[in-house]
Amino acid sequence: MRVVLATGNRDKVAELRELLAPMAVDAAPEGFDPEETGVTLLQNAWIKAAALRDAVDDDAIVVADDSGLAVHALGGRPGVFSARYAGPDATYADNCRRLLGELEGVEDRGAAFVCVLVGLAPGGDMLVSCGTCPGDIAPAMRGAGGFGYDPVFVPAGEVRSMAEMTREEKAAISHRGRAARRLAALLAPP
Ligand code: IMP
Repeated sequence: MRVVLATGNRDKVAELRELLAPMAVDAAPEGFDPEETGVTLLQNAWIKAAALRDAVDDDAIVVADDSGLAVHALGGRPGVFSARYAGPDATYADNCRRLLGELEGVEDRGAAFVCVLVGLAPGGDMLVSCGTCPGDIAPAMRGAGGFGYDPVFVPAGEVRSMAEMTREEKAAISHRGRAARRLAALLAPP
């Protein structure tokens, strides 16, 4: 079974390749970047999957990932806007700094990463899976692994940030790891 990912984000591609192994996983064609106009992760995942489904005419399964960080004290923000939180050209570090600034002096540091995966089969059948990872926002950035908000996110029951964990440790508990294992079970039931 071959999967084509409806994302241009190299960090997500790297994680999903490992998570969906032994399935063969290809990245989206160069320049694939549909406008994400949805107001939920599910809508945006569907927009990306549908856009690529039309461009992939073989028997591969198209899989789109939309994910983000929901912070309790911010009413669930940045959520669906996680990638663009500090502006349209924001870097991961810009977004982390904006989040730390908004939470300065805030006691409730609770948050959760959420990942929605949408799979579209050649005939149009759709599979959806979701994974979450609860935790807290750290007082400062720590660690050099992972990507995005990993340096400021401490998973529940951990003292290290997600960026201080190995790839395997992150995969075992992450929102994307949980969603990918559910999707893999739907694609290839035991
Ligand atoms: P999307 O491409 O619209 O789904 O944006 C996802 C954004 O959420 C990324 O750019 C990151 O800022 C954040 N994000 C998603 N997954 C992770 C993760 O595993 N670690 C850290 N940040 C993540």
